[in-house]
Amino acid sequence: MDIRYERRNVYKEADEKKTEEIFSYAEGYKKFLDSAKTERDAAEICQKLALERGFTPYKFGEKLKAGDRRYHISHGKTVFLIKAGSEDAAKYGIRIMGAHVDSPRLDLKPHPLYEEKGLAMFKTHYYGGIKKYQWTAMPLALHGVMYKKGGERVDIKVGDDDGDPVFYISDLLPHLSAEQNGLTLSKAIKGESLNALAGTIPEIGAEDEKNAVKANILKLLHDKYGVTEEDFTCSELCLVPAGHARDVGFDRGLISAYAHDDICCAYPEMTALFESVASPHTLVAIFADKEEVGSDGVTGMNSRIILDLLNAVSASIGADPVAARYASLCVSADVTAGYDPNYPDVFDKRNSCFLNGGAAVQKYTGSAGKRSTNDAPAEVMAKIRDILDGENVIWQTGEMGKVDAGGGGTIAKFISYIGIDTVDMGLPVLSMHAPYEIISKADLYEMHLAMKAFCK
Ligand code: MN
Ligand code: MN
Repeated sequence: MDIRYERRNVYKEADEKKTEEIFSYAEGYKKFLDSAKTERDAAEICQKLALERGFTPYKFGEKLKAGDRRYHISHGKTVFLIKAGSEDAAKYGIRIMGAHVDSPRLDLKPHPLYEEKGLAMFKTHYYGGIKKYQWTAMPLALHGVMYKKGGERVDIKVGDDDGDPVFYISDLLPHLSAEQNGLTLSKAIKGESLNALAGTIPEIGAEDEKNAVKANILKLLHDKYGVTEEDFTCSELCLVPAGHARDVGFDRGLISAYAHDDICCAYPEMTALFESVASPHTLVAIFADKEEVGSDGVTGMNSRIILDLLNAVSASIGADPVAARYASLCVSADVTAGYDPNYPDVFDKRNSCFLNGGAAVQKYTGSAGKRSTNDAPAEVMAKIRDILDGENVIWQTGEMGKVDAGGGGTIAKFISYIGIDTVDMGLPVLSMHAPYEIISKADLYEMHLAMKAFCK
């Protein structure tokens, strides 16, 4: 028995077959990721995959038997995948995996479209924690929905196909940046200057000469989608980075893409639930909305939706809901910071998570003296360790960054609030919340194995 702790590296232990599995799993992930840039996109593709696998919509009040597969979607955004277990949930508990599928981005304002000196622009309001300067001078795609009077929904997705136009927020040329260069990063680009180019060609013969470009855009939108300017007030339109996931490095070990946080956890929990067979535990995988803005709102995990859904599922499988909850275990599946050699000063390298080190279990998150954290009890950590080690999953643990460098939160504290043992687990990420983030294919695969072990 080795009494020392040694960090592991997935590739140092992987044989040829496992390396192949790592790489082929990543291909499925990249495909999923490219079609899951917003929570609505993610819910749609998840629903499609669930339907293909025989899942049917969950009916509140229905009775479920072992192996039954259901899904529930709230407002087209938050998804619950449900698989009924073979044993009494009051004893075995429900195994919950909770990732989020919203990512930092730029939302269009309720009155987004305006014209200034012949340029039509979209006004935006950033969603989630972004570094504003990262969102300028790059191609952006527009994803979302608009509602017409009477409630007809129009889906909009422009900018990801090669033939599509994109949108673009200009940055200042270096030649005229003398003043901007002296500002701090947080002040150099202001929220109100994150306005995206939407068009430049005037409508010939427009009534209002000064707004002829805007008039032309409205005409194009009306011709294509049948929407009016007022319909923007009943819309959710998001500017997200255009393009798709790409391999990084000569060895292709990493993936650069938008929305790894948190699709890189949502995808493994989904694939694990799909692949699980005959689990004694009832399984619930959550694709949550609103995590990036604090989990508030009717589709966020800081709402009654999680409690009500679990109570309903408990009733469906014939278990006492309170007993089931207190016997349950939850992995809050979310990312953490990977150690970044470009910025060693913000890490405690003895307590960091490393790329290729496997699934990253976090006892606590939070900031400023572990504030606002679900600090998983040691007993829960011990249980998770046994689950992961029992299936030889490669995992690591640490903290997001060094003490007082900052911090962050996840949905963990909202699940533990209702009495469920919860621990954070996810992938180490580089450039988290940047338009293009980095993860390791090996960690992604270990996360899938970890979620499979959890579902067993
Ligand atoms: Mn996250
Ligand atoms: Mn995040």
